[in-house]
Amino acid sequence: MDAFTRENKQLLSIVVPVYNEQLNIEKFYEEVHTVVQTLHMDYELIFVDDGSQDTTPLLLSRLAQQDGHVRALILARNFGHQLAITCGMDHAKGEAIITMDGDLQHPPAMIPALVQQWREGYDVVQTVREATADAGRFKRLTSKWYYVLLNALSPVHITPGGSDFRLIDRRVLQTFLLFREHDRFIRGMIGDIGYRQTKLSFVAPKRFAGTSKFSLRKMVHFALDGITAYSKIPLRLALYTGVISGLISVLIIFHVLYCKVAGEAIPGWATSMVVVCLVGGLQLIFLGIIGEYIGRIFQEVKRRPLYWLRAELGSGTLRKNGTE
Ligand code: UDP
Ligand code: MG
Repeated sequence: MDAFTRENKQLLSIVVPVYNEQLNIEKFYEEVHTVVQTLHMDYELIFVDDGSQDTTPLLLSRLAQQDGHVRALILARNFGHQLAITCGMDHAKGEAIITMDGDLQHPPAMIPALVQQWREGYDVVQTVREATADAGRFKRLTSKWYYVLLNALSPVHITPGGSDFRLIDRRVLQTFLLFREHDRFIRGMIGDIGYRQTKLSFVAPKRFAGTSKFSLRKMVHFALDGITAYSKIPLRLALYTGVISGLISVLIIFHVLYCKVAGEAIPGWATSMVVVCLVGGLQLIFLGIIGEYIGRIFQEVKRRPLYWLRAELGSGTLRKNGTE
């Protein structure tokens, strides 16, 4: 598709998952509203309320009433960031679809730059966080090492600092919608899908208001999802370790037999304890890893919908839910 037809495409969908963001929504809405005026495109702003307990749904329904560009999908409960984004993507009607956070850490001012790359013919414009203004040393270091580990373990390359702030073309969306796994790591999925991809880097500012919704527990869970969703290498590692320790144990058995026959003293308690603890520990770790994968199988075979909605406000009718 050439740049000319892209210019004539009309609708831009902006998908924004929000969870208890009552202090950010109005400011976010105003910034986006101002920025999109410069684009010469029609647009829809799709907020997905991820089971907020504050006044977020109320604010969204008010916005949806006031402004025909705004749609609000209210999820029945908290499904998590990745599923909230998925819900918004399922409902997006645009030729180009942008996903971004609602706390202004993904600057709306960058939207024209994303659209520009798309107009130049790219199907995926992925943003890469160069730094985050309010990220502590811990988050920065863990994030860095996580991506090193993830890329060592994963067959697809996942850009360090890749965020869920990106633009995708409708064609990419249509492929993405066919991927219905529960435990999802959207940045890996989009990387996997292919098409013509490009990157834009940015420095994430501080949250406008409120606090991060990601606890350490959620982050670890998300990190494990990223690895188990993309790689069988941990399972292979278990096999290789088994083979190597099997070989070593054969050598040890021969050594012990030799000592016995030759009448030499056989090393005692300390050696046995070290071996028992080491092997026991390794076995438990690998059982845990296998459990991680079985847990995912268990989750997926139930084939439950990815999410369900309590209400859909604003223009358009309910097209789909996660079952399709
Ligand atoms: N979010 C969500 N569901 C959740 C957690 C977060 O929809 O369970 C939204 C949140 O409202 C925000 C975006 O996802 O718009 C990113 O979350 P947050 O800013 O807390 O993450 P961080 O930037 O700290 O990684
Ligand atoms: Mg944030």
